[in-house]
Order: sequence, then C-alpha cells, then structure tokens
Amino acid sequence: MCRADDYPPYDMPEMCQAPGVGCNRPITCTTPIRFASGHATIGVCADHINAKPPLVLTGIDGNAFSIIGAAQKALKKAGYTKADIVAFNEEAMSGDYDRLLAACFGWFTVT
Ligand SMILES: [Zn+2]
Repeated sequence: MCRADDYPPYDMPEMCQAPGVGCNRPITCTTPIRFASGHATIGVCADHINAKPPLVLTGIDGNAFSIIGAAQKALKKAGYTKADIVAFNEEAMSGDYDRLLAACFGWFTVT
C-alpha cells in the first residue's frame, strides 16, 4: 500500500515507470528497485507498487547457472539494459550460493 510519504517528488515523470510492463498510468507511489547504477527509486502506479520483474524459480534446476540464466532472461524480458544485466551477474556471482539467492531477491519478485 502507498503511504503518505511514498508520494513521488515533483521531479518524477508523470507516468508509471515499472520496467517491462509498458504501463502509462499516473504515478501514485514510489518503490525501490535495482539497476546497474545501484538502488533507485522509481514512481509507479498503484498496480505496480512492487515493480521488480518476476523471476520464476519454482520448478527450475536449482544450480547456480540455471538460476543466473533464468534471471538474465527475466531482466531482458523486462527491458533492462545490458549494463543492468552485467551488474546483476556481477552481484549474483560475487559470493556463494546464498549471495546468488540474495541477489535474485534483491532484483526480482521471486516465485
Ligand atoms: Zn503501472
């Protein structure tokens, strides 16, 4: 839910910035999201309060390469730039398996 202090600052664009969904409804909230440049706050409509792209890990092979492959595909599908995908890869591969999963939960809505 939107809280009063979630309402976007005046320098935000007027249309929902949820990546990959082509939504052009007016912004009513802001939400944190990850990009290559780090954490960003984007303006979103009420339907896209969770603007993180979906990542379906249910039913896929749990090895690190399968997860990273699925994540890269999901970022591409959501319209993320190559730099964003590289940044995700670096983060996902910067540590152990737990670090990989943490990166997935940081960048995606994981199901
Ligand atoms: Zn939207």
